[in-house]
Amino acid sequence: MPTMHDWNRFPTRTRLAGRWAAPVWMDNRVNLSALGERRVNPVAAASQQTIYLGGGEEIGAAVVVDGRIYRGARGLAGEIAHVPVPEASDAVCRCGNSGCLDAVAGRAALVRDARLLAEIGQSRALSSVLARTGTIRPVDVTEAADAGDPAAQALFRRSAQLFGSSLATLVNVFNPDLVILGGGMARASAHLLDTIRETIHRRALPAATEGLRIEPSAVDMEIAGVIGAVQFAVDEIFSPERLSAWLDDRTPVGRPDLAGTTRPAA
Ligand SMILES: [Zn+2]
Repeated sequence: MPTMHDWNRFPTRTRLAGRWAAPVWMDNRVNLSALGERRVNPVAAASQQTIYLGGGEEIGAAVVVDGRIYRGARGLAGEIAHVPVPEASDAVCRCGNSGCLDAVAGRAALVRDARLLAEIGQSRALSSVLARTGTIRPVDVTEAADAGDPAAQALFRRSAQLFGSSLATLVNVFNPDLVILGGGMARASAHLLDTIRETIHRRALPAATEGLRIEPSAVDMEIAGVIGAVQFAVDEIFSPERLSAWLDDRTPVGRPDLAGTTRPAA
């Protein structure tokens, strides 16, 4: 958890297992949303190599390899928010570093830049929102762009170019057959999708983008995350080796040890 330093090394899983006397597995919301998306979206289910980009408070990517989440050695695979981008060289990121994608194209950056446009009168729609409500939310930027506000549309275009460049790197590294934009990225896909597609096709290797599909998610990321969490827990608890360990007791309750360490916790 790069931006949740206070939680690093906190024994979340042990504490929850102790509280509920049950096995507990943990993963991050983007990985779980990617699992949920595979469950309900036939296009995702048919893909073996998927990059799922989740927008929200912080951007993250899930990497699905041969139908399984690739988590990396410490569960940090897909932390695209903190890849360095040249355009962010002097932008300080909340992770403490500078130059991260999140610092120039994440939700907080979008709101920060939109507020600036509103304050200096560059966007009539956003100036009006700020005068009326005293704040700018991501949905205000989407609505301003929907209404044809050129400054809001330009903000999304810039974000989409930055995301597209970073995604092009992932496309070269993992060679997926599908890239899914989830969360806020899906909600703003009308303003992001074409530019992200164009940037990926321009920046990634032609052979890597041949046949590559780039699509908004079919289901809301929060819903997909819940579906994915349920599926994750069910898959773990009913895996053949664990099932044989608790079936005689007829319940896994009281057996927090079943979680073991066979899968890396987030
Ligand atoms: Zn960062």
